[in-house]
Amino acid sequence: MKPYFYDLHIHSCLSPCGDDDMTVHNILGMAMVKGLELIALTDHNSCKNCPAILKAAEGAPLTVLPGMELCTSEEFHVVCLFPSLKPAMAFDEYVYSHLPKVNNNEAIFGKQQILDEQDQVIAVEPIMLAGASTISVEQLPGLMAQFGGFAFPSHIDKNSFSIVASLGLIPPELGFTCVEVFQPNTFFARPGARLITNGYRVITNSDAHYLGDIAEPERQLELESPDFYGLVKSLRVR
Ligand SMILES: [Zn+2]
Ligand SMILES: [Zn+2]
Repeated sequence: MKPYFYDLHIHSCLSPCGDDDMTVHNILGMAMVKGLELIALTDHNSCKNCPAILKAAEGAPLTVLPGMELCTSEEFHVVCLFPSLKPAMAFDEYVYSHLPKVNNNEAIFGKQQILDEQDQVIAVEPIMLAGASTISVEQLPGLMAQFGGFAFPSHIDKNSFSIVASLGLIPPELGFTCVEVFQPNTFFARPGARLITNGYRVITNSDAHYLGDIAEPERQLELESPDFYGLVKSLRVR
């Protein structure tokens, strides 16, 4: 076991709220400058920039996991990670078929750019990615088993798109073993906060939408290996 610096929740310019500078090379470059060793690309309801970042990361001294920040029908954000591109893109296709077919309004919400590994824009996603899918959080355990992924509720301490803000707790039957707390110092100062996360592995990621927000090398996870299997082995243990 060895400690690795991580950031498992990063948005690219495919997320409408993600800055245009969040290209695959810029994200990789910034993660490497900061000394991160394990990162994940997690755009809203889409994995379509994962092929580019995984290709661009070949030979780089860090591991990039393909992922997505799913917005469930209840408007909970949940980060879903995958061991490789194939299951990630299969999940992407599944989620895409469960998105309301509403066109994105770039002027209001921002661009949704799909890149190649050279940072060239190869397509623009026309369907709005930021809204709720028709997938219920209750479906997630089954979907993660089906697609071979690992999911954890995002930013449970935020006021919006948070399972805890809505329900006040994490229903145990959902089978999550890990939760993301965005600002642990503030959250754990709240009375009762430890009761909410009791029994869960707590991690903190940047949820970066701008390059400068990508995590500093401040937090580490003890892993057997800095990859999906090492990560899941660690985070599945309560
Ligand atoms: Zn979120
Ligand atoms: Zn996010």
